[in-house]
Amino acid sequence: MSNCIFCAIVAGRAPASVVLDEPDVIAFMDIRPFTPGHLLVIPKRHASGLAELPPEDGAKVFAAGQRIAAALRASDLPIDGVNMFLADGVAAGQEVFHVHLHLVPRRAGDGFGIVARAQSPNRTVLDGTASALRAAVEAYRS
Ligand code: AMP
Ligand code: ZN
Repeated sequence: MSNCIFCAIVAGRAPASVVLDEPDVIAFMDIRPFTPGHLLVIPKRHASGLAELPPEDGAKVFAAGQRIAAALRASDLPIDGVNMFLADGVAAGQEVFHVHLHLVPRRAGDGFGIVARAQSPNRTVLDGTASALRAAVEAYRS
């Protein structure tokens, strides 16, 4: 897509610090890292969000992310854990509309976190939600 910054990176029209370059997937350092080593894994084929992403591209993005997470842990960077994070939609915090998987290296006390207050629904509520979702998931069977 012509006005997409990540497509520009894929095409070599914008700079990136590339970690992995494969036929369908590329990974590069996030320009504003949350922690040292924070990087993004993206499909080369443009998809603005999960609804547009071919599942085979999603599988390749995740597999690359898993591999890079192992490499991060084995690297000299100070890493005790890794968060994978994907924002799908404005309400989820998505700012760049080309699907990307964040890999955020973690250490205790690094200041990174997701602000959330866990709720305590009872089993009836959980079962009701699960039942509605089961039907919806069935409708999305490929
Ligand atoms: P999100 O909020 O999940 O859409 O995250 C978008 C991420 O892309 C942010 O962490 C940005 O710092 C990062 N980003 C935006 N432009 C670039 C760029 N040109 N190169 C590397 N990372 C970028
Ligand atoms: Zn794009």
